[in-house]
Amino acid sequence: MFDSISGSIKSAVNKIRHKDDAASLKKATTELRKSLLKSDVHHKTTKELVTAVELETKKNGIGQDSFLKALQNELTNILTTEGNQGFVFSSTPPTTILMTGLQGSGKTTTTGKLANYLKLRKKKVLVAACDLQRLAAVEQLKQIAAQIEVDIYFDDEAKDPVEIALAAKEKAKKDLYDVLLIDTAGRLAIDEELMQQLHDVKEAINPNEIFYVADSLTGHDATKTASTFKEKIGIDGVILSKYDGDTKGGVAISLSHQVGVPLRFIGIGEKMPDLEVFIPDRIVSRLMGAGDIEGLAEKTAAVIDEKKAKEVSKKIKKGEFNFNDFLEQLSMMSKLGSMKSIIGMIPGLSQMAGPIKDMDFENSDEIKRIKALIGSMTPKERETPSLLNPSRKRRIASGSGLSEMQVNKILKQFKNASKMAKKLSSKGGMKGLQNMMK
Ligand code: GDP
Repeated sequence: MFDSISGSIKSAVNKIRHKDDAASLKKATTELRKSLLKSDVHHKTTKELVTAVELETKKNGIGQDSFLKALQNELTNILTTEGNQGFVFSSTPPTTILMTGLQGSGKTTTTGKLANYLKLRKKKVLVAACDLQRLAAVEQLKQIAAQIEVDIYFDDEAKDPVEIALAAKEKAKKDLYDVLLIDTAGRLAIDEELMQQLHDVKEAINPNEIFYVADSLTGHDATKTASTFKEKIGIDGVILSKYDGDTKGGVAISLSHQVGVPLRFIGIGEKMPDLEVFIPDRIVSRLMGAGDIEGLAEKTAAVIDEKKAKEVSKKIKKGEFNFNDFLEQLSMMSKLGSMKSIIGMIPGLSQMAGPIKDMDFENSDEIKRIKALIGSMTPKERETPSLLNPSRKRRIASGSGLSEMQVNKILKQFKNASKMAKKLSSKGGMKGLQNMMK
């Protein structure tokens, strides 16, 4: 995601060899300009950014540190556009958001992701299915809503999106929802009919904000279509989807600067947790390879139930960690989203991580085997792993489709892991770990 730009920054700064060496600064800015353009950063933004970095570096004395500092400042300036950041709640609920975008941009998926993001933050969310254009869109939103356990308003009989949106808003008011997210129709390209429909829904609903979902894989077109939507219906924020698949990554740098509307969130995968708030200085920190610990802490805080975490840690200390606890921990991890999205937030790790970055932990063969094994246990066996004698193990093996050897191996691993966890926790958590590694 950010790797290509981070790499460009590194190779540019390495061009500066000596202090006060104007020729090497020129080389660095040339390198930076070329690689930003290659990464799909808009040419006007590139020019502005590089000129400002050059000036500021000269002013503060040419050197690698001053170049990096200038770049950090100027990138933050470029990414900061007047308007709201993240999600903003209205003082008179329900906060109503119109989700707009072209067909295939990821609008319906993003509506689900945003609902999930808000639900994890303890908000009561209603999604409304007003995309009557794409045949499967209503069905898709129903499935997503069921998956994330969020309420949905739909009307299979209605033909008019305005009617559905109004009824959804009524329901959201009456049933005291905090947020109403309205999924609207998309088109393959911008046309007048679509704009008129969005305009009508907007007039009828008077939303607090309109979000435009832009597909980052469309490169410069993402910026162009966002500008057109801004001009035609007015938008308050852009959500850049599919950023995980964007190997260039520059659209995120110049989009808000060119459109004049802040980037509010980025989509970084197909799963529901794969949505991140776009906060300029935090993103700059990641672009500069310095991670985003604050972002990581926020993400885990929303997902991890502190009371449960304490209970589990008590159990671990007593050596009572069982298979139900294990399943619960797994589901918590999957709520954090893809490994890729987490790794970039830990300073230094994105440069080192290589293969783990692409690991799909939840769907790995190992985890699938463990899930099959637990699925074949009785509730009692899950609660008390020590019950597992040879005949029970044979029954579990045939129920889960695993060989007896595989069952024994996994059970042994589990036993060792909980022993290790007990030891660690009694030696004082991380300190224990550090001592063991000495
Ligand atoms: P809509 O027509 O705009 O409602 O588009 P959809 O929500 O159906 O999304 C189109 C495709 O893009 C689906 O296959 C989604 O899973 C995928 N998608 C959406 N957002 C992301 C994202 O952030 N990353 C990736 N990799 N895929 C995404």
